[in-house]
Amino acid sequence: MLPYRIGFGEDAHRLEGGRPLILGGVEIEDAPRGAVAHSDGDAVLHAVADALLSAVALGDIGQYFPDTSEENRDLDSRVILARCLTLVRERGYVPANVALVVTLDRPKLGSRRTEIARRVAELLGLAFSEVGVSFKTSEGLAPDHVQVRVTVLLTRVQGDDA
Ligand SMILES: [Zn+2]
Repeated sequence: MLPYRIGFGEDAHRLEGGRPLILGGVEIEDAPRGAVAHSDGDAVLHAVADALLSAVALGDIGQYFPDTSEENRDLDSRVILARCLTLVRERGYVPANVALVVTLDRPKLGSRRTEIARRVAELLGLAFSEVGVSFKTSEGLAPDHVQVRVTVLLTRVQGDDA
């Protein structure tokens, strides 16, 4: 069993008026548009969940939460993340740190960095200092969508010598 495993995840959603924008479990109230999605469209939590699954080679969240299923309509992405965290733990690993990059043209998210990092840390059982949050714009290349990329490092659960 490897002492560490690294995971990578990516997610994007199209933006449209009249929908909330939720990132890392935090609603961005001043966003003029929100994510079009079958679930709540939280691109941060989707990318983190995919990164967790990728670290233990379990595929992606589409396999566990298909967007064709009525059951998953407007699903709270924290439920998706919790399930993926359980799958990782069952394989003997826990997150050690996570780094995420959000690409969004509007609004600027700098003032929400602490809140997003804190929320993601809580959901993953990490310290605030173990969650890196970066914000980029697309420089107008992709103004109609939000995109998130995430790397995660897992360590073996203490005392598990399997
Ligand atoms: Zn998504």
